[in-house]
Amino acid sequence: MTTPNTARLAKRVKLSDGALITKMLDIAEGLDDVIKLGRGDPDLDTPAHIIKAGQEALANGATHYTHPLGIAPLREAIADNIRAYGGADYAADEIMITPGGQQGMFIIALSLLDPGDEIIVPCPGYNPYQQAAEMSDAVVVKIPMTLATNFTLTAEMIEPHITERSKILVLINPNNPTGSVTPPDEVRKIAELAKKHDLIVISDEIYSRLTFGNNTVLPVASLPDMKERTITLSGFSKAYAMTGWRIGYLAGPRDLIMPMSEVNHAFAISTAAVSQHAALAAMTGPQDCVEEMRQTYDARRRAICKGLDAIGMGYAEPQGAFYVYANVASLGLGITAGAFCERLLAEGRVMMYPGTIYGDHTDDFVRMSMTQPVDRIEIAMQRMAQVVESFRADARTAAI
Ligand code: PLP
Repeated sequence: MTTPNTARLAKRVKLSDGALITKMLDIAEGLDDVIKLGRGDPDLDTPAHIIKAGQEALANGATHYTHPLGIAPLREAIADNIRAYGGADYAADEIMITPGGQQGMFIIALSLLDPGDEIIVPCPGYNPYQQAAEMSDAVVVKIPMTLATNFTLTAEMIEPHITERSKILVLINPNNPTGSVTPPDEVRKIAELAKKHDLIVISDEIYSRLTFGNNTVLPVASLPDMKERTITLSGFSKAYAMTGWRIGYLAGPRDLIMPMSEVNHAFAISTAAVSQHAALAAMTGPQDCVEEMRQTYDARRRAICKGLDAIGMGYAEPQGAFYVYANVASLGLGITAGAFCERLLAEGRVMMYPGTIYGDHTDDFVRMSMTQPVDRIEIAMQRMAQVVESFRADARTAAI
């Protein structure tokens, strides 16, 4: 029997990031009572009226393929919702429902990127953008963001990276993993830059309903002459706690949405009908559930920040989404975020992910998801304080 040459066969798939998560999940498997602040999957349930709409849809025969763009009432409801939150004016055929926002990224990359095209992505930033671009043989141009600007992408940072081959600029607002919100004035400057250099903007606004304090998201496509060059990516997973329903959407000008609809059709034919009917209930039903969840995350955010303050660990100001990006290097222990996460999990039974998973050029930060109730977060912060104390004790012993 011959052994397959996996290096050749697996050319397009880079395993490194996923392997780290798998390793953490494997360690967690063997432990009791792990407090999971890793995945960006809300512990909160999908609101009851949305579940009920899904159940009724199934009972009424929503068991078939739908129009490749998605059912018309849902696309119309999304267009209304985008308008209601100050976004651009879309017709129903300028909205495409996808099996999760994440698949939307791959649809965009496969539809728009030719080999050698450059796509500018914020780093750290949600990493499937990079994977989608790499699988399209595009060149990923990473803009390193830092704590100095609270990990906000600025037009000034982007411009030096623009070349003749630049095609797409990705804005993730609020950002995962850093929780930073790009201020409206900066969004305006980035839009001007996109027009000046003829770039398509992918504006990932999946967390736009989850912002804290005075932070708000200015939808890029609403700015003058931006709708025709912007694809807004969003979905239901975060604001409506619907990760398992696998449904998201893209909004963009018709001449970009139509070719993407062909790719979407080739991938999935259409998004699951039951999920589309549930999403319709999410869009058209009461919206106080979103505000309740936002307030829940806000309380958790304060609990995490309080715990980090007590430990003496720095962090980026969490302005949106449901993550706190904490600075391991600020502890001054000379350890990487990866080493910190592993020991925290093994000894403290608290799981979180290092920022390197999201393309952070340093190994200094960890992402903490606000996906546990406040009482569990408080226990997690106590356990974290103990592990930091063990690291400090080691450092003292090493110094003797
Ligand atoms: N965009 C961002 C910034 C995300 O963090 C995520 C998921 O974590 C997604 C898109 C994809 O979400 P989904 O595929 O569940 O719609």
